[in-house]
Amino acid sequence: MSEVTSIKKRKKKFSEEPDFVEKKSYRPKNVKETGLAFIGHEINEEGNAMNQLLHYDQLYTIRHGWNSKFFKGLIDGKIWGTKCPKCGDTFVPIRTHCWNLDCDLEKTEWIEMPLSATVHTWTIAGWSGRSSLKRLPIVLVYAVIGDSKVAIANELHGIDPWDVEFGMPLKIVFKSKNERIGAVTDFHFEPADEWKPSPINKEKERIQKLVEPVYKWVESLK
Ligand SMILES: [Zn+2]
Repeated sequence: MSEVTSIKKRKKKFSEEPDFVEKKSYRPKNVKETGLAFIGHEINEEGNAMNQLLHYDQLYTIRHGWNSKFFKGLIDGKIWGTKCPKCGDTFVPIRTHCWNLDCDLEKTEWIEMPLSATVHTWTIAGWSGRSSLKRLPIVLVYAVIGDSKVAIANELHGIDPWDVEFGMPLKIVFKSKNERIGAVTDFHFEPADEWKPSPINKEKERIQKLVEPVYKWVESLK
């Protein structure tokens, strides 16, 4: 006969609720959180297709927990990464525990990263959400900040899309202090000051042809 035991001790919370002393609100006026609600539906004639209309314009709280220092750092115009004290690997985007199996999930430590990076890979966005349409084409890069073992995604400004190169040096440019909100959009990449694009070649011409209609279309929006 197996013995049934009840679990009396509940799992201890791993940390106490923080005492938030700084609160900032930049919610536009007259926005109401109506919550999650189905507000209607539509069904086709055959009765085998149905769409439901869900209103989800509600307030979310993103709890950053152990990762908070990174997001707070963005407000301060700094890039914080994490570093494994055992093997020395660094990470931006941050990892709270080392990924190397030999390190046995060692807790990482905070380290301030340089405001420089290199392009790991990149793409050109010829389409976007409504709010960014007039900024097209947008160059998106995965860039390696400092000696990070992982790459972070962000926009690359101040360059013609066809001039981007793998491994090219970048600098990190922050928005002005009063515009920063602690999101990755607080900064973008730009080519490093000393960097010059290489001369035009066949691949660059190919990309120029591809983005030409995007520029024309954006012009037609004005
Ligand atoms: Zn490690």
